Amino acid sequence: MILPEIRISGISEESVVDGPGYRFVIFTQGCPHNCPGCHNPQTHPREGGSVIGGSYLLEQIRRNPLLRGVTFSGGEPFMQAAALVPLAKQIRSLRKDIVTYTGYTWEKLLSGADAENSWMELLNETGYLIDGPFIEELKSLEIPFRGSANQRIIDVKASLLSGVPAALERFPACC
Ligand code: SF4
Repeated sequence: MILPEIRISGISEESVVDGPGYRFVIFTQGCPHNCPGCHNPQTHPREGGSVIGGSYLLEQIRRNPLLRGVTFSGGEPFMQAAALVPLAKQIRSLRKDIVTYTGYTWEKLLSGADAENSWMELLNETGYLIDGPFIEELKSLEIPFRGSANQRIIDVKASLLSGVPAALERFPACC
């Protein structure tokens, strides 16, 4: 199966700082949020970075049995939701979980999801969503896996079932 191409700013093949366990991280290219104090301004231009095949990424992920899951980070992954969804489905078929970082809030994603942007489809493939922009005044080094105190770890399945965002203090041991 040939998966769609994704514009990325980089990858990390084995990270322990982008979600629970060993994770393959895909840093997508392009971000509309312009958070003051962003540490990754090089990820903002839509046309920057490089284009890589989703099938190539899947093969790299498949080769590492130590991985618990894959993290979509940015940039803003929801800008490329349609391209990420087929890859996410294949990753989940390998019994690995998906963590997605976004500068959008949970509420914004739900209200802005439509038939064209595939936001809901990407949410449906995501186990845990780290939501919200980076807010410099709320920056904290004390909060694992997040840059500022407004950002939440949201259990996506529980939130969609209950209709309210289920924010967690930390990731559960297993998804
Ligand atoms: S959402 Fe992330 S990448 Fe985009 S501007 Fe904010 S901190 Fe930077």
